[in-house]
Amino acid sequence: MGMFEDIPVDVGPIYEGERIRKEQMYVEFGGPNVKEKFELCLVKPPEEVEDGKVIIVGPDIKDLEEGKSYPFGIIVEVAGKELEKDLEGVFERRIHYFCNYIEGFMHLNQRYDIWLRLSRSSFKKGLNSFNYIGKVLIRLFKSEFPIIEKIQVTFITDPEKVKEWFDKALKIYEERDARALALHDEDVEEFYGCTLCQSFAPSHVCIITPDRLSLCGSISWLDARAAARIDPKGPNFRVEKGECLDPIRGEYSGANEAVREKSLGEVERVYLYSMFGYPHTTCGCCEAIAFYIPEVDGIGIVDRNFKGPTVIGLTFSALANEVGGGRQVEGFVGISIGYMRSPKFFQADGGWSRVVWMPSHIKERVKDAIPPELYDKIATEKDAMTIEELREFLKQKGHPVVERWAKMEEKAEEVPEEVEMVPAMVPVEGVPVAGGFRIIFKNVKITAEKMIIRRELPPKKKKKE
Ligand code: SF4
Ligand SMILES: [Zn+2]
Repeated sequence: MGMFEDIPVDVGPIYEGERIRKEQMYVEFGGPNVKEKFELCLVKPPEEVEDGKVIIVGPDIKDLEEGKSYPFGIIVEVAGKELEKDLEGVFERRIHYFCNYIEGFMHLNQRYDIWLRLSRSSFKKGLNSFNYIGKVLIRLFKSEFPIIEKIQVTFITDPEKVKEWFDKALKIYEERDARALALHDEDVEEFYGCTLCQSFAPSHVCIITPDRLSLCGSISWLDARAAARIDPKGPNFRVEKGECLDPIRGEYSGANEAVREKSLGEVERVYLYSMFGYPHTTCGCCEAIAFYIPEVDGIGIVDRNFKGPTVIGLTFSALANEVGGGRQVEGFVGISIGYMRSPKFFQADGGWSRVVWMPSHIKERVKDAIPPELYDKIATEKDAMTIEELREFLKQKGHPVVERWAKMEEKAEEVPEEVEMVPAMVPVEGVPVAGGFRIIFKNVKITAEKMIIRRELPPKKKKKE
């Protein structure tokens, strides 16, 4: 790669999937051990950007102690006649991809939640300064987006300065999301899509609408629109709405078509406002995961920063491993924090009145979006850590799902034995069943002497006490 002759390590998309384990790492920036970290892209007036400049605030890589985790910030400032504010989010998202092109350098997540690692072997090869990383970013940005006329990149490791910018960055993200949320799906002519994550999650297609921020939380409808305008053949593209097939579940013929086409037939339909039936696909970088809890007929939510197990015993990462990778799994769906603020948030499933559990720090963060009469009825890790405790809590608080329980039990009694034994994934009306499996073979020949496929039956329903 001629473009990178002066960089001590290799650069290219082949390094994208590279993971750097703790034993291989030289230092890490951000991540779970550090509270303050962020990345930000700002569109600036041309006189405020010095093209090609890399600024390092705080110690450079070679002055850091091996094996440690550091507070960290990246600011990418761009200028250009055709640049608009709405492109900030789009460019910012590319920091992730471009950093991952660097051999021995790993970047995870986005915005306030970034986690980067530098490998010991790349450090030994000479990748010991942010100057190199900045240069790579600058060149990749400019070659990918010719409308960027000037670009400078700042790396911050000085903890004080990171903290200062971290607070500013949070406000900027919020303003961006608020701007996008002022629009609604009914008001716009078209939706947008994103396939950036297909390098990690091959069948994943994000459908981005004003009421449904992308699940990574960093690309809104406005952002995607701006990106599609400047690069219509790129990963962000226009999606015709087509016919609205179901305004409650949020099914649009145009979105279905786009998903079908971009997932190469893997996914056929998508409901934008429901976790049942045909939920949106999930990739690994979602900010949160919503999961159906059949025992209480409610929805639980866990965000990436909640490290412990959820009320169903699984952690965020365990859930992400189960449903990420671009799959469509009924009863589980990756969402952004911003989507919780949408009036269409799981509208078909009951919205907030169906949410029964979420980590306290997220509940606090989206407090303004939760109907006040429900706020105290939603359990957190402080109220319930088992299904039994959750049941008790909901009953005691008179959560709206409790009313559904009586109906559920009535239904269950009406249902004959055989029907109860449906395999997972087949929705029984009103009682969605989560989990299950799907096997897809394409162009394969299989020979076997014997093959046994066994179905696990769901446990028998306990008799009513
Ligand atoms: S999660 Fe969706 S919107 Fe975000 S980068 Fe991935 S594909 Fe694009
Ligand atoms: Zn992703």
